[in-house]
Amino acid sequence: MDNSIKKIAVLGSTGSIGQQTLDVICALNTRFRVIGLTGGNNVGLLERQIREFGPEMFYSSARLDFDCGSKFFSMEEIASHPDVDLVVVATSGKEGLNPTLAALRAGKTVALANKEILVMAGGIITREASLHNTEIRPIDSEHSAIWQCLRGEESKPQKIFLTASGGPFYHYSQSQLSGVTVQQALAHPTWKMGKKITIDSATLMNKGLEVIEAHWLFDIPMDSIEILIHPQSIIHSMVEFVDGSLKAQLSFPDMRLPIQYALCYPDRLSNLGLPRLDMNQIQSLKFDLIELNKFPCLTLALNAGRQGGTYPAVLCAAGEVAVGLFLNGRISFTDIAVIVEEALEQHQSIGEPSVEQILAADIWARECVRRLRVK
Ligand code: MG
Repeated sequence: MDNSIKKIAVLGSTGSIGQQTLDVICALNTRFRVIGLTGGNNVGLLERQIREFGPEMFYSSARLDFDCGSKFFSMEEIASHPDVDLVVVATSGKEGLNPTLAALRAGKTVALANKEILVMAGGIITREASLHNTEIRPIDSEHSAIWQCLRGEESKPQKIFLTASGGPFYHYSQSQLSGVTVQQALAHPTWKMGKKITIDSATLMNKGLEVIEAHWLFDIPMDSIEILIHPQSIIHSMVEFVDGSLKAQLSFPDMRLPIQYALCYPDRLSNLGLPRLDMNQIQSLKFDLIELNKFPCLTLALNAGRQGGTYPAVLCAAGEVAVGLFLNGRISFTDIAVIVEEALEQHQSIGEPSVEQILAADIWARECVRRLRVK
């Protein structure tokens, strides 16, 4: 095989980021070859992807009953397989944690979309990456923007401005927020994403997770990261240097661009499938200050990130269960924060936790939310 062809494993290939990753790979098909695909319950889609891309390896958490010529492996085996050059981690929640560790320990480059992994275990993940002399490339649009702005810079940024669209309810009053429907919460104004992250964007939980993610990725204190409301989602983030100079990355809001950048780095390639910004159409760029008290999930996330230990794992797990309950019509939109807060309050955190302790905190949080619901 041509050595210039990069061999890719996509973990979570049936999710929103996984599908868009395969879309980028199709558009730039002379550069990449898909070696492994992993999926969850969407068996039909995984089957179609396996037929289209013909990976050597696949993993499915649900049963796959067809002869695809592809061999079944665990996610860890796929992530660390000698044939793989780059692992795209597009799983959700804690699911990708062990496979990401396996990839880093095998010296693979990891393109990371699954932010909970850094939120839960940022210290362990970054330590393993530097120990094995490998890199974590961000796929999250804000973090890709920061990464692009820092490229070629010798000095560390003094401050990071993480932009946030504010979600669909930024102008809602407190009473309006409690009556928000699932359908309203799933209608994000600028980004097309999976359900869980769309709800997290509406509660601004997502932005809190992103502050923690940026802290670990760029080794910058959480208090040097400022959230700036930018409803147009054109500036994907900015960095400020010690001399007062600011750099920003602007592009049409489409996740395929940060995915492509992470796959192709250090190259930039033309992809005619990607929409472009028309600067003549943009009259002005709008910013607003964040109103923290309106979005308690954001405050909870920032506090959990500052406290560290196993609090961030509880934040992620309780948040995931609470969002699931909201999507199933069992709790109101504002109950999401109430549930997460209660779980965090009841939790006894462990400092400098191991992976096992982090995963145990995740299980504890899920049970805690179940107990709270029964009460
Ligand atoms: Mg983001």
